[in-house]
Amino acid sequence: MKIDIKSMTLAEIQEAFKAEGLPGFRSRQVYRWLHRGVSSFDEMSDLSQELRRQLSEKYYISVAIIEKKRVSKYDNTVKYLFRLHDGQYVESVLMQYHHGYSICISTQAGCKMGCTFCATGQGGWFRDLTPSEMLAQIQAAQLDSGNRVSNIVLMGMGEPLDNYENVLRFLELVSSDEGMNIGARHISLSTCGLVDKIYDLADRKLQVTLSVSLHAPNDQIRSRTMPVNRKWNVEALLKACRYYAQVTHRRISFEYAMIQGVNDTDACARELAGRLKGMLCHVNLIPVNDVTGANYRKSSHDRLERFSQILSEKGIPVTVRRTLGSDIEASCGQLRGKHVEEVVAHEGRQ
Ligand code: SAH
Ligand code: SF4
Repeated sequence: MKIDIKSMTLAEIQEAFKAEGLPGFRSRQVYRWLHRGVSSFDEMSDLSQELRRQLSEKYYISVAIIEKKRVSKYDNTVKYLFRLHDGQYVESVLMQYHHGYSICISTQAGCKMGCTFCATGQGGWFRDLTPSEMLAQIQAAQLDSGNRVSNIVLMGMGEPLDNYENVLRFLELVSSDEGMNIGARHISLSTCGLVDKIYDLADRKLQVTLSVSLHAPNDQIRSRTMPVNRKWNVEALLKACRYYAQVTHRRISFEYAMIQGVNDTDACARELAGRLKGMLCHVNLIPVNDVTGANYRKSSHDRLERFSQILSEKGIPVTVRRTLGSDIEASCGQLRGKHVEEVVAHEGRQ
């Protein structure tokens, strides 16, 4: 079994080189190459042939191969479907904002959390991604597009806090000086609400922006659409969010997908406003994306406006989120779902 070298810190590579009798002073060079996104040791042109051979015997470099790519005709948003070394598929979305490029990456192949409105959740969990596979998605998108990414959102497939150790290591690697040097202030992490990990993350004082998929103002609605709520309910989750905001002084971003007739009434808006009162937070309203299989419809534009108005009047900062790449299934798990359906249909025809 070869070792995943791109998931190692610079200190660990130095240490390993020393233990293996490899030239220690080369480790920094190797680390820099890895974080520039090379896919083989042969590309490390300033290392000797012999060292490249030694490295490739012991280590492997994980990559994300572009399987499919869709570019939105409205706003240049690019959605990638990547294939990993074992044939798993994950998605990333590259978005252009006025301040630069932002990428939304996946942290797991699939997800265990089973949210009823989510294509990924409905497909189940396959495996966790390694830190190097999270980096590989960014590197592949940068190389393909020719653009440098300045912001990262952990909001693709998977629940980042359910792959916590690997996500923490990814944060350390991606922010390292010799790596991509993207600091925690430029990174958002989206969670369905694993409360124990929210406390842990707060205590690490990393300055990561926490985005919380709330999607309901009370347990009755939330437990129906998000099974995680049966373990940690709205009250426990909001308490953890208040703690996170207090400790980090960072504004929590609450995601709220508006589903017609489920969570979009005036009463829901008032209840939500009451529960968020006084918290350093912001609410993002987004019309739910249609997911094949789930019988959910997006709320009307008027409903979103009305809901937003109620929150606003009660002093809760709110935006109706513009949906980037609405023509390219740029929402969690949708492209993978489609690809797998196509592959299955194709195989069925043979
Ligand atoms: N597991 C994490 C991050 C990945 S999901 C989380 O749940 O936060 C990314 C975001 O997409 C979450 O806010 C999730 O609730 C939202 N999402 C999933 N399916 C959706 C759909 N059909 N319409 C709108 N948002 C959706
Ligand atoms: Fe998992 Fe997030 Fe989808 Fe829920 S919304 S199933 S937590 S990826």
